[in-house]
Amino acid sequence: MPNFVDTSPPGQCIFCRIVSGEIPAAKVYEDALAVAFMDIGQVNPGHVLVATKRHAVTLLDLTQEECAAVMQTAQRIAQAIGREFDPAGLTLLQANGREGGQTVFHFHMHVVPRHAEDGVGLSWPRKEPPVALLRDYAERLRAKLPV
Ligand code: 5GP
Ligand code: ZN
Repeated sequence: MPNFVDTSPPGQCIFCRIVSGEIPAAKVYEDALAVAFMDIGQVNPGHVLVATKRHAVTLLDLTQEECAAVMQTAQRIAQAIGREFDPAGLTLLQANGREGGQTVFHFHMHVVPRHAEDGVGLSWPRKEPPVALLRDYAERLRAKLPV
């Protein structure tokens, strides 16, 4: 398993405090499993975070129901962003672990309105290995899929 780091006791991290209302946040939506609120950094106007209500660190810690709730909420938020901010594009970003780019260790997904030349970048070094290696990777992963 990857070395995902949880730096806060459950219930005491910054997003748990937002969920409980202990610290303020500009909330857009919430249901039993997920909450959506404005990212304090606002990469572009309308940048929203969709977090689990329960303290879970990464994607691997979510229940199937939480996975579904987060994605359904992200889609609803995307629809609202489209109607209100009319962005040229939209990027969903979900980081896991420090090396994966995660800085707040309570599961969340970014819903980011995008515009031409908005300065957002992700370095993506393509390797393009031979097809035989792709088949080998696929076979190894098929063998490890949860039942
Ligand atoms: P990550 O890097 O873990 O994918 O994203 C964490 C995000 O949480 C950052 O974009 C950051 O701006 C946001 N964030 C950190 N602290 C707070 C906070 O106290 N309130 C809100 N609304 N967003 C926060
Ligand atoms: Zn938390």
